[in-house]
Amino acid sequence: MANIFGIDGVGLKLVAQAKELAGKIEQRAIEVDNDAKFPSESIAELAAAGFFGLCNPVELGGNGQSPGVFAAVVEELAQACPSTAMIYVMHVCASQTFVTSHTLANREALLKQISAGEHLTTLAFSERGSRSQFWAPVSEMRDDSQGSFTTSASKSWVTSANHADSYVSSSQKPGASSPLESTLYVARRNAKGVNVSGSFNGLGLRGNDSAPVEFIDVAVSQGELLTPQGEGAAMMLEVVLPWFSVGTAAMAHGLCLAAISATQKHLSNAGFSYDGTKLRDLPNLRARVAEMSCRTAQSRALLGFTTQLMLDPDDQTPLYVLQSRMAALEAALHVTDLGMKACGGAAFSRHLGIEQMFRDARAGWVMAPTVDHLQEFIGRALTGLPLF
Ligand SMILES: Cc1cc2nc3c(=O)[nH]c(=O)nc-3n(C[C@H](O)[C@H](O)[C@H](O)COP(=O)(O)OP(=O)(O)OC[C@H]3O[C@@H](n4cnc5c(N)ncnc54)[C@H](O)[C@@H]3O)c2cc1C
Repeated sequence: MANIFGIDGVGLKLVAQAKELAGKIEQRAIEVDNDAKFPSESIAELAAAGFFGLCNPVELGGNGQSPGVFAAVVEELAQACPSTAMIYVMHVCASQTFVTSHTLANREALLKQISAGEHLTTLAFSERGSRSQFWAPVSEMRDDSQGSFTTSASKSWVTSANHADSYVSSSQKPGASSPLESTLYVARRNAKGVNVSGSFNGLGLRGNDSAPVEFIDVAVSQGELLTPQGEGAAMMLEVVLPWFSVGTAAMAHGLCLAAISATQKHLSNAGFSYDGTKLRDLPNLRARVAEMSCRTAQSRALLGFTTQLMLDPDDQTPLYVLQSRMAALEAALHVTDLGMKACGGAAFSRHLGIEQMFRDARAGWVMAPTVDHLQEFIGRALTGLPLF
């Protein structure tokens, strides 16, 4: 059967390798969820197997793979351990800012380190003052007039906060007249003034360590800027948003596929001893699993089409990217909800794993751009209005 992402050759081999790794990663997933434990061993295995540089340039030690391969790998990880998939998605998205930066001083060395599995990175966009509206940071960069800058910020959610080596961060440029005049920069976790200020105890993705981080008078050198001053929004929207949309859509689909598989098993095995029938003999439950499968297939097909469009983008591609994320997030809520209903009390208890998928699926919806933002962006684009 043709691959839904149109991938072949090396890409397919990498996805098969990810599937094999996912088998090991899955064994730790219950502990990760129960104890809100960062999946360090799973992340180390991904690093050792070369997945940190999956989409980085080949000449800098990466695998040079496409958004389609990224999506297929993330689907495998999300079926095994959604927290691991989340950490990985944020790492790949942040890495893409290094790949595309023209201002980062040690770009090549950093990308080689990442591809060698020696550097985990993440995104630190959300701030207490701008909440989910990541495109409008409230933190400001001050120019110290010696070719370097200083910034303070309350970053409200940073995946891998205690474990990432660096945070790809945002602030307003010095003297900005609007929050849209932002700059992206890289901050080292161990830099002076960078402090993880809380811990993460969430409903879902409980192992992703998405904690708040305070930046207090952090020095940012010219070479740590990822964009020229004031051009951060363009990188957020043109680089981070597409990779983030693909990665989180693939995560949502991984959750859908896992929920379908658990539901199929339960309906086929559990039954009524008084007459020997199985749950699958009830037509309403069969209808639910059919709807789960259909909805997932629709959304995966849209993402597969979109990742292929991204290889040769045109003016419709951004719209498809946003629609793919929106469709996948909505599908994940619907499909995991149907799994809960189809499997009844057994799903409500923890042993089938469906309640975890149901909880984890809700995280995607509130991550920025949220479904509210996506609807607004898509609606504005379709009616000829500017995005902001
Ligand atoms: C598990 C997890 C991991 C995360 N990891 C990261 C990370 O690594 N890096 C990072 O930067 N952030 C991260 N985030 C933060 C995330 O991207 C959002 O910023 C955060 O969830 C927003 O929460 P809030 O309470 O501030 O939402 P609010 O902004 O207060 O939103 C509340 C509601 O208002 C709606 N709303 C807000 N603005 C508008 C608008 N303009 N139009 C219509 N409706 C609107 C929202 O859709 C939402 O329903 C993470 C979040 C989660 C849950």
